[in-house]
Amino acid sequence: MNYPDHFLYKKSFIICSLNRYLPYDENRMANIDPAANQLTDFHKKKQTPHRSTNPHGCPLPTLTKSLTVGPRGPILLQDTNLVEHLAAFDRERIPERVVHAKGAGAFGYFEVTHDITRWTKAAPFEFVGKRTDVAVRFSTVGGESGSADTARDPRGFAVKLYTEDGNWDLVGNNTPIFFIRDPILFPSFIHTQKRNPQTHLKDPDMFWDFISLRPETTHQVCFLFGDRGTPDGYRHMNGYGSHTFKLVNAHGNPVYAKFHWKTDQGVKNLCPKKAHQISADDPDYSIHDLYNAIADHRYPSWSLKIQVMTFAQAEKFRYNPFDLTKIWPQAEFPLHPVGRMVLDRNPTSYFNQVEQLAFAPANMIPGIEPSPDKMLQGRLFSYVDTHRHRLGPNYVQIPVNCPLRSIPLRTYNRDGAMNVDTMHASQLTYRNNDGAPNYFPNSFSGPVETPKADISSYTASGQVERYNSADDDNYSQVTTFWNKVLGPEERKRLAANIGGHLNAASPFIRERAITNFAKVHPDFGKMIREKINSNVDSNKANL
Ligand code: NDP
Repeated sequence: MNYPDHFLYKKSFIICSLNRYLPYDENRMANIDPAANQLTDFHKKKQTPHRSTNPHGCPLPTLTKSLTVGPRGPILLQDTNLVEHLAAFDRERIPERVVHAKGAGAFGYFEVTHDITRWTKAAPFEFVGKRTDVAVRFSTVGGESGSADTARDPRGFAVKLYTEDGNWDLVGNNTPIFFIRDPILFPSFIHTQKRNPQTHLKDPDMFWDFISLRPETTHQVCFLFGDRGTPDGYRHMNGYGSHTFKLVNAHGNPVYAKFHWKTDQGVKNLCPKKAHQISADDPDYSIHDLYNAIADHRYPSWSLKIQVMTFAQAEKFRYNPFDLTKIWPQAEFPLHPVGRMVLDRNPTSYFNQVEQLAFAPANMIPGIEPSPDKMLQGRLFSYVDTHRHRLGPNYVQIPVNCPLRSIPLRTYNRDGAMNVDTMHASQLTYRNNDGAPNYFPNSFSGPVETPKADISSYTASGQVERYNSADDDNYSQVTTFWNKVLGPEERKRLAANIGGHLNAASPFIRERAITNFAKVHPDFGKMIREKINSNVDSNKANL
């Protein structure tokens, strides 16, 4: 097959990055890199092209010649096909997600392997063997949509389950905890992870200033700068619902729970040098890896497990069980197996099915409810709000967001920008609610209430106040992590990764950060200081 030079270069480059610099070989490439063959595969399936039309369906006479007065122009405004073409192009990009802008998506199913109906009546867990369709989006957090997939960063791990009771979104990360515990700090925290508003550069002072002034970040910072901060693609990492949720069974009895997705591919991470190298060779490494695994029928899967805590246990627990900077120890709250999620379908349109895929922690279903976790409460507002801004008020009508198993869908909402009624894969439609009344109560067979879908009742009391949670035990769990989970080599790598990054911050910020890390363990602070000093020495040697 003949490729133009630049195309040959691109294909051989992809092969190099995937195959650790093996020489270019077209046959080999055809087998190992389905993503690179997407257009060839399309061409094989579709030998006779469709006619091209403008967006209104009218056939286009040409795709290469504007309508001009004479061969040298000017162009006539009458060339409405050209105007339409340029106008559509001008509007191709929608606002990027403020966080989690770079991501990969896939579809598949969740299957129940173990009965948990004693804890929850939620539809996807109804019986062993039940399958529910899922859409998943993995992402990095801080980088823009074109940034490198292998950057040191937490990874988003968001799952949408299309259940009969509506869509349930479990919108988590690859870490069971988070940097902060009060959502009022979230915009500031994210600002420090992104670009300085004057220089438009990542700013180590911003990053470490905030981190060191808010030591509740220490636990998550140690996950971020540890080996798991640079996972080897998306298939080799665990996912966590992270927050504490409430599960409610058919009798209305609630328990608290945490969700864990354990990768069946095994946890695998990249060393910093390799992560750095890949960020230059194949910045889309994780998208590539996920797409090709699915295209090759090597379907990635994750086993869902839950931890359960009774209300009585929660009252007596030595930590705040709703604090997102803390885990529940597995020895006290063991992991119960629930089921398995398999991703076996790639998106056919990245924009339609991944860029427009909208997750919201507020999307819960009967049997799953929020806990008082303050971060979760903040996210219940924030995600739907951002989707209304990014995708428009009727974003749920975008097929990938439509609750396709909860049909017929009947609401008292009407109208709004881009209200097109939904036609989804199953071809079922709700067209302006089929003329049903748009007010309630009514005497004309309008949709009725479902009292059993209500949340379980609970008591909340307390003095209304702005509580300061800054010093709510920031170190004991991360000390356990340092002492019991990490081995000597992992500790060295963690301290070296932190030292290498912290080195770029101003000296007074460095000192404050080291003081905090020394509270985890004196050796930790010492090792970070040694790393920084060794950087200073080697910089001097290079002068
Ligand atoms: P366990 O020994 O029962 O669990 C330790 C956990 O640490 C495992 O889930 C393991 O995940 C995870 N882990 C191993 N290496 C790393 C790493 N480099 N970065 C992040 N996580 C890692 O102990 P506890 O439940 O009592 O927790 C002890 C500490 O472990 C906690 O303070 C917390 O820092 C950390 N941790 C706990 C988790 C939990 O949900 N309880 C989850 C993750 C971390 P895996 O099984 O996949 O190897």
